Amino acid sequence: MITLKRTPMLWVVSAPSGAGKTTLCDRLVAEHDTIIYSVSCTTRAPRAGEIDGKSYIFLTEDAFAERVAAGAFLEHAQVHGNYYGTLKETVQDALAAGRDVLMDIDVQGAAQIRHALQHDPALAPLQSAYVDIFIAPPSLHDLQLRLWGRGQDEEAVITKRLAKAAEELRHWRDYQYVIVNDRLEDSYRVLRSIWRAACHRTHRLVD
Ligand code: 5GP
Repeated sequence: MITLKRTPMLWVVSAPSGAGKTTLCDRLVAEHDTIIYSVSCTTRAPRAGEIDGKSYIFLTEDAFAERVAAGAFLEHAQVHGNYYGTLKETVQDALAAGRDVLMDIDVQGAAQIRHALQHDPALAPLQSAYVDIFIAPPSLHDLQLRLWGRGQDEEAVITKRLAKAAEELRHWRDYQYVIVNDRLEDSYRVLRSIWRAACHRTHRLVD
């Protein structure tokens, strides 16, 4: 009998903060038990409700630098003045367990992953299982309103995030898929469709 064999996928989703990426990705992960978030390391302080080891692995700058020196990161970058990185081990363990890995990382990290997939022979087999998506807000004004509305950050932080957003938006062409998140329901339908199509692109027939 011919059946489809799942091949674990590597997903990268990037968006300026406030574009709705977390809401969309949380829902995708909640509805698909094959998908697991890659838990990143960061040097930023935990926000209210964030749990060490689950939301992020919270590290001091020294501890982060040690891991950089040891070559432990698949990618790492400075975002909004803090360091963020994905441990190789986190991704390897999830893929080895047959899970699809969803990485919520910035445009610099995404560029490093694409580069690694092309130049690191150990990662070459993952090339066909790689999917990246850029989520854009309908406008920078809309983004500003959303950042104010969620009341999470101070004015200076919001100003920094908006400047960074304008910079990040310039990278949308580097991604395989782009979603303009105007209406959340519509955007989620698009995300789920990409997911389904990618499954059928990466899975293999076995008999
Ligand atoms: P936040 O501090 O709001 O959770 O995240 C800020 C930004 O850092 C987001 O754009 C998020 O995608 C990015 N980010 C989170 N984890 C990583 C990571 O491991 N690597 C990179 N390059 N960016 C990350």
